[in-house]
Amino acid sequence: IAAAPAAAMVSAEAGIDRVLWTEAEVAARVGEVAAELAADLRARPEPAVVVGVATGAFLFLADLVRRVDVPLAVDFVRVESYGGGTESSGEPRITADLKVDVAGKHVVVVEDIVDTGNTLSYLIAHLEKKGASSISVCTFLDKPARRKVNIQLVGDGKFYSGFECPDYFVVGYGLDYAELYRNLPFIGVLKPEMYKKDSSN
Ligand code: 5GP
Ligand code: MG
Ligand code: MG
Repeated sequence: IAAAPAAAMVSAEAGIDRVLWTEAEVAARVGEVAAELAADLRARPEPAVVVGVATGAFLFLADLVRRVDVPLAVDFVRVESYGGGTESSGEPRITADLKVDVAGKHVVVVEDIVDTGNTLSYLIAHLEKKGASSISVCTFLDKPARRKVNIQLVGDGKFYSGFECPDYFVVGYGLDYAELYRNLPFIGVLKPEMYKKDSSN
């Protein structure tokens, strides 16, 4: 019997060194954050606008909003400050803007991870300019040890966080390295040999 082509046997998790949070742990924590968010949104008179930061937040947002049983709008924004590497350039820019009007609305920004805080601070200022009346942040991971900019919430906005992340470059559950690994259902750390040697970004 002929062996299957090598490429067909490589799974998405082949490059993972260790798992920080399993699929079950992720699901359990998302449920808790969703319950907290739902209780807060239910107390508001008007539907909130949930704004996911593409692409990293897509899985967290999808799992989160399914567990938040209140009327809400969903939209995505694309903010980029990374090249293909593991360090932020520190100069974010909006590369795809919102479709939903957030003027006078409560906005919940959904992020995969807050690291230096550069991306989020920039996005919050952008949403404030668009007239959002209050802004909360709901991030799956938070790396407070690497914060360079304080996150200024707007109005009565709150900060929700899934897990505090140790200072590793993590992938999975939406988070990528060079656009790969987003489809892993858990959060893991890559094997060092998976990183390209180039450090141009
Ligand atoms: P910040 O602007 O806060 O430094 O970085 C925010 C963005 O950088 C995140 O939304 C994410 O896309 C990316 N990022 C920061 N830390 C990590 C990490 O450990 N792993 C991955 N895959 N992306 C990260
Ligand atoms: Mg992100
Ligand atoms: Mg990325």
